[in-house]
Amino acid sequence: MFIDSHCHLDRVDLKPYSNNIGEYLEATKADLLDHMLCVSINWEDYPAMRNLVSGYSKISLSVGVHPNEMDGYDPSVDELVDVALSDHAVAIGETGLDYFRIEKESEFFSQQQRFRKHIAAAKKIDKPIIIHTRDAKEDTVRIMQEEFAGEAGGVLHCFTEDWAMAKEALDLGFYISFSGIVTFKNAKQVQEVAKKVPADRFLIETDSPYLAPVPMRGKPNYPNYVKYVAEKMAELRGIPLDKVATISANNYDALFNR
Ligand SMILES: [Zn+2]
Repeated sequence: MFIDSHCHLDRVDLKPYSNNIGEYLEATKADLLDHMLCVSINWEDYPAMRNLVSGYSKISLSVGVHPNEMDGYDPSVDELVDVALSDHAVAIGETGLDYFRIEKESEFFSQQQRFRKHIAAAKKIDKPIIIHTRDAKEDTVRIMQEEFAGEAGGVLHCFTEDWAMAKEALDLGFYISFSGIVTFKNAKQVQEVAKKVPADRFLIETDSPYLAPVPMRGKPNYPNYVKYVAEKMAELRGIPLDKVATISANNYDALFNR
């Protein structure tokens, strides 16, 4: 039994499933998973996401605004806190920094300010932070340190960076989560990290419906495909698959207080 620690169920096209998330979960065998964490991307879509997954005991949710969502509403610390508490969110995020698609100089600062607010909210309610980082290694680590993100703890999701960055995050008490990227042939750097990260600090995820792992690369991605990520982790670490399942589930439970 696996846990998909990061998916976006509200980004799935449910039309082939009679617009019914239950039908989708059954048809894609997501109902075989132990648990899923449905991660919020922006403030505007959050209420619909909450309504979509409410009533499913196997699905937890987070509250937050993705760094690339530059045009939407920017919640205050208290707004993040209030919604997270009233909806029993298990985490704040996804938040972080993504300089890959930045178009205006001012976006660097606004992403950083928003990241800081998410960390403050997470610390206030003692919930972990889900961090997305791309092309922003130094600033991500610097802000995590300056804001004492380690007090809340959390995870660097869909990890794509090098061991030096993983080490900085691990030193702050953070977890590292591996997505389908770890199965890609050219992902040598991530595979090195997947081998080295301590057993009590890694998670597995799909980031579905994006980023399908090998052998499904290029096709739609489903939460149940987290098993391909787990298989790769087992291969890289030289341990049995069921051990990856147990370890990653225990780590999930410890981080998200399940
Ligand atoms: Zn995501």
